[in-house]
Amino acid sequence: MSDCIFCKIVKGDVPSEKVYEDESVLAFKDIHAQAPVHLLVIPKAHIPSVRELGEKDGALLGRIFSTINRLAEENGLAERGFRIVNNCGEEGGQTVHHIHFHLLGGRSLTWPPG
Ligand code: IMP
Repeated sequence: MSDCIFCKIVKGDVPSEKVYEDESVLAFKDIHAQAPVHLLVIPKAHIPSVRELGEKDGALLGRIFSTINRLAEENGLAERGFRIVNNCGEEGGQTVHHIHFHLLGGRSLTWPPG
């Protein structure tokens, strides 16, 4: 998608602070961090939201979640705990329409979200 900011990050047309990359997944620092650790984990392929996910995406989701666990470990969150957030659609608070999973941690997180 030519007008998608995260596709531009994948292509290297927009700079980002990458923390992990393989052939199908990219992770980078959120520019407006909401916690001491705030990373975004995305598929390189343009998938707009979780509404497009299904059985066919099992391997990709496995890769995304093993990436999240790797990053949680690397950032000292595995034992402390952390939060994975996916916002979907307008009322879900999604602002970038390229599916992404927020990995948040490094402080005590409150519940419920706003
Ligand atoms: P959403 O509200 O769940 O869609 O989250 C989008 C996230 O992307 C927000 O936390 C933004 O701060 C983040 N974001 C938007 N543009 C960029 C960027 O260019 N680099 C890194 N993070 C970004």
